[in-house]
Amino acid sequence: MRRILVAGAHRGLIVVSVLAVTDAKPQSSYPSPRPTSPGGLSPYDKDAPIHTVDEFINGFMDELNFGRGVSLARSSRNDQYIALSKAVRQNLQARWMKTLARQYEEQAKSVAYLSAEYLLGRQLDNALLATGMTDVVEEGLDALGLSLDRLRAQETEPGLGNGGLGRLAACFVDSLATMSVPCIGYGIRYEYGIFRQEFEDGWQVEHSDRWLALGNPWEFPHPEHAVTVHFGGSTETYTDDRGRERTRWLPAWDVQGVPYNYMVPGYRNGRVNTLRLWSARATRAFDLRIFNAGDYVEAVRAQTFAENISKVLYPEDSTPQGKELRLQQQYFFVACSLRDQLENVLPKYFDLANLPDRVIFQLNDTHPVIAIPELMRLLVDEKGMEWDDAWAITQKCFAYTCHTLLPEALEVWSVELLGKLLPRHLEIIYKINEIFLDEVRAAYPGDEIKLRRMSIITDHPERSVRMAYLATIAGSKVNGVAALHSELLRDKVLPDFSAYWPDKFTNVTNGITPRRFIRLSNPGLSDLITQTLGDEGWVTDLERLRELEPHADDPAFREKFRQVKAANKQTLAQVLSTRDNITLPTDVMYDVMVKRLHEYKRQTLKLLHIVTLYEQILSGKVAVEDVMPRAFLFGAKAAPGYRIAKEIIALINAVGKTVNNDPQVQGRLTVAFPANYNVTLAERLIPAADLSEQISLAGKEASGTGNMKFALNGALTIGTDDGANVEIRQLVGDDNFFLFGMLEPEVEATIAEGYSPVSVYENNPQLKATIDLIASGHFSDGDRNRFEPVISNLLGEDRFLALADYAAYLEAQQRVEAAYADPDDWSRKAILNVARSGFFSSDRSMVDYIDRIWHTPAITQ
Ligand SMILES: *Cc1c(COP(=O)(O)O)cnc(C)c1O
Repeated sequence: MRRILVAGAHRGLIVVSVLAVTDAKPQSSYPSPRPTSPGGLSPYDKDAPIHTVDEFINGFMDELNFGRGVSLARSSRNDQYIALSKAVRQNLQARWMKTLARQYEEQAKSVAYLSAEYLLGRQLDNALLATGMTDVVEEGLDALGLSLDRLRAQETEPGLGNGGLGRLAACFVDSLATMSVPCIGYGIRYEYGIFRQEFEDGWQVEHSDRWLALGNPWEFPHPEHAVTVHFGGSTETYTDDRGRERTRWLPAWDVQGVPYNYMVPGYRNGRVNTLRLWSARATRAFDLRIFNAGDYVEAVRAQTFAENISKVLYPEDSTPQGKELRLQQQYFFVACSLRDQLENVLPKYFDLANLPDRVIFQLNDTHPVIAIPELMRLLVDEKGMEWDDAWAITQKCFAYTCHTLLPEALEVWSVELLGKLLPRHLEIIYKINEIFLDEVRAAYPGDEIKLRRMSIITDHPERSVRMAYLATIAGSKVNGVAALHSELLRDKVLPDFSAYWPDKFTNVTNGITPRRFIRLSNPGLSDLITQTLGDEGWVTDLERLRELEPHADDPAFREKFRQVKAANKQTLAQVLSTRDNITLPTDVMYDVMVKRLHEYKRQTLKLLHIVTLYEQILSGKVAVEDVMPRAFLFGAKAAPGYRIAKEIIALINAVGKTVNNDPQVQGRLTVAFPANYNVTLAERLIPAADLSEQISLAGKEASGTGNMKFALNGALTIGTDDGANVEIRQLVGDDNFFLFGMLEPEVEATIAEGYSPVSVYENNPQLKATIDLIASGHFSDGDRNRFEPVISNLLGEDRFLALADYAAYLEAQQRVEAAYADPDDWSRKAILNVARSGFFSSDRSMVDYIDRIWHTPAITQ
């Protein structure tokens, strides 16, 4: 056995892992066929089979001929993609078995990340990168007359998330695997992920995302490990044989959760963690119903009721709908995950009093918070523990991440619905609340108002359970996702709780994985960095990008940097030309705004800027030759029921159509809105961007992670003082960031004074001309009513103060133009953005979670 030590330092945390490679069969003449421990490996377990081109061709052809049952000549591109993926995954599987065996030996504390969403992005490229197989595979495919580029395009990305929150979960599990920290990600295997967006006459149309239709080589179903989850019914009390009064749940129906395992490869460290996604399946109870019902066909149809639970991802981002199916999904996946931990992951006869030493459940927003009463139910009702003992354990086993500041995004469940679906859990929540309020009453005698404010149960607008409060009360820690957000969370969202438990509140600024968001997505810049720094260590130690700083003043380096950006623009233009039939100039500034469509993110402010530039040409205020050429790129999905968001998309498309085709513009302004923004498209757009638009209303964006991706790829940010923009600006420096707009306290003051968007409009002639141009029907073939909803939204309420920040935004855009006019200085600023973005690696986020919340060591050796 050859052991290769791979070590990396993550700010004090030494991460050492082993790449164990067996050179020869074991010496023993008759090795035991059984592993020494139930979690170990036997001498017959296999090692990674593919190291050379020949071995790859052999593995690939095995998968094609015997896995797919087709000859090379008859194989389809999908056959080839699946065979390729299955050949590549063999190397990962060998590492996976070793990781699990090692973890079993160690019995170390692990992270159980509970998230209803994982926006993973494509798997093949990441697997190739993690295993270092890209060259071998490329050569092997070439020898067979196949192209890796064509095969990788065959993969449909698993879109099991809406946006930032789901993508964050994917970055975190990547980092933990790379840092050799034991982690299992738990979530839902939605049969349909986030919808596929198309435009019909500029209007968003949703299509179902049939991501599993052609088969999925990256998942491993284990129906034999299915667990049963109960719903509905009632509860009863009884006296147990020790004379104690106890409660049991008499559920009405149940479903099974089938685990589908996904590999989460660490970057070249020989480790592979697990992502376990649950799929719902009807239980035998449904079979019985079939037998009893007499109507066989109707009864089989009824099975689909159970299977609906994991059918589709809810497409609302930041605005949860209180739908019963959504609560079913939430309970379904956490009940499966807790049972999996207690019964499959922990050894037999494990003393649950020690649970906090073995696992920490991280709650990714409120979606999995029902896990708290579920653990209490398991410990008290099923394991017979005393309430206080169970509560002490539960409080140490959970930690909660809040992802929002928008009041409408704080999830609540009506008592009626919760009681109908999970009657025992509702009782437990009431009891948790009762005991908690007794404590509060003792701490603040006579303060009934505070008591009502801090109660988990609220009576308005209907009697409901505030999930964020439940998570805060039960969690060992509560964290926000950027410095400003954590501060506002403490002071504005949960002030009573932070006063009561000051030490419970902490911050962990979000991050992004450098593997996917620079090393994979920006090979040109990655090569330049590696050449300049001398090795690839920066991929797992992103602070090393600091070493680029001195090169920002080197004209030759700047020239190379510009060449990379120019090549990325060419690549993007080519992709959009084939993907969307969009024609994009390649020698202009790329000004990019990609993120979910939400009023608080203020895509309308960006649009007002574009219409302003256009109006200035039309009205002759600015000669067209004096307009700086730019391409404006948008990417955004709107929740299907979010009417005004869809109107804004339609308006962007209408403006694009008019501006792109107006000869007076002489091609100086281009608006492109490729449909179906997803991770795959983000990986193309971001490396090509010059300017990153992060223009949310201050105090509304919790963190943002798109902002980090852009800075890391050498785009300059134009942004408000919001979310992680604050930290980006502090790190890259004021000179290398275009700040504009009101600060959060000014926003508060403006609203308190009685904000009037109409008077802003009346008092700014350019703003008036811009809005009037839209209202005139110029972008809607003379139809003045077409965009009336957007106009009246802006002039009527303008909830997110787009008009109030308009003048400041235009002024900041003029600073952008002045800076871009000096290419050398712009490159210098862009290079400094890259050099100073190391902090935003999700590896750093993980170090912070480990230090401040989890206290989980890396597995060594
Ligand atoms: C990073 C990312 C997001 C989050 O973007 P924000 O600008 O932080 O809202 C959303 N969607 C996709 C596909 C992403 O890659």
